[in-house]
Amino acid sequence: MKAMVLNQVCRLSENRAPLDRVEMATPEPEPAEILLKISACGVCHTELDEIEGRTPPPRFPMILGHQVIGRVEAKGNGANRFEAGDRVGVGWIFSACGACEYCHQGEENLCEGFLATGRDAPGGYATHMCVAEDFAFPVPDTFSDAEAAPLLCAGAIGYRSLRLTGLKDGQRLGLTGFGASAHLVLKMVRHQYPRSEVFVFARSHRERAFAEELGAVWTGDTGDPAPVKLDSIIDTTPAWKPVVEALNNLKSGGRLVINAIRKEEVDKDELLRLDYPRHLWMEKEIKSVANVATRDLREFIDLAARIPIKPTVQEFALEEANRALMELKERKIRGAKVLRIES
Ligand SMILES: [Zn+2]
Ligand SMILES: [Zn+2]
Repeated sequence: MKAMVLNQVCRLSENRAPLDRVEMATPEPEPAEILLKISACGVCHTELDEIEGRTPPPRFPMILGHQVIGRVEAKGNGANRFEAGDRVGVGWIFSACGACEYCHQGEENLCEGFLATGRDAPGGYATHMCVAEDFAFPVPDTFSDAEAAPLLCAGAIGYRSLRLTGLKDGQRLGLTGFGASAHLVLKMVRHQYPRSEVFVFARSHRERAFAEELGAVWTGDTGDPAPVKLDSIIDTTPAWKPVVEALNNLKSGGRLVINAIRKEEVDKDELLRLDYPRHLWMEKEIKSVANVATRDLREFIDLAARIPIKPTVQEFALEEANRALMELKERKIRGAKVLRIES
């Protein structure tokens, strides 16, 4: 099979081609696993965190990519949930122990044995991959392969973030940062909480205009105060300043949900501006979002088909993965980036 692999952690400012194109043996499915022939894989900001060492793979070489769409090509012993040819998706959750208290509660995202697709196990920047059938799920026909891929991370984690805000219809929600995940959250809110107003904080005019087009009642820069205090805010930025600003925009008892696997270090000193009475007192809460559970993926993909939510995508060939990653790093964003994969 063909794959684009990461051989070592590096700085993208010094190495603009961190992934190497290789030929390797196609894996064979273990018991209860399926072998997928991959047709599309989304390109995610988390890959930059892996490449630059903020959440590095435990071993190398590693095949990145955790928004995988493929068709079942072969099945291991005892795998019987899918037929050959079925189209399935695989998200960030590659597997979990299945036995701990979190796994029993459907919160496998918190399992100590959680393994991430494309970090702890080979992922979708390749023509084939194996995965346990319990962690693959059917993809509704509403979506093309390229449309479905970005939903598996940005969409599913946006869905989990929105769930963790505890938002009720009519309450005001803020979104700080307006990339792949936030714009899908805005579409979900319009559908699930039609009486809720959404306020969007984004650096670029283009993102703000896009947010208004999708129904945000107010947009401003990340440092602008919202015109009213908000019940909850979801932060999807890689930075710290928006966290402090968001706490200022929350009302008493409000909750900030941080949807970021890692924060970058560049503006960490912004945290020293944290003023307890203004930013935290009055029972304001901060909660992070960790990974996704299988239920988030299954529930979200069905919700996305019903609404429907279709992401705008920009396609690249598998061999162009480095270019797609650099464009993401340099914030040249025109829709969600997806590798189209042909073997
Ligand atoms: Zn992702
Ligand atoms: Zn577990």
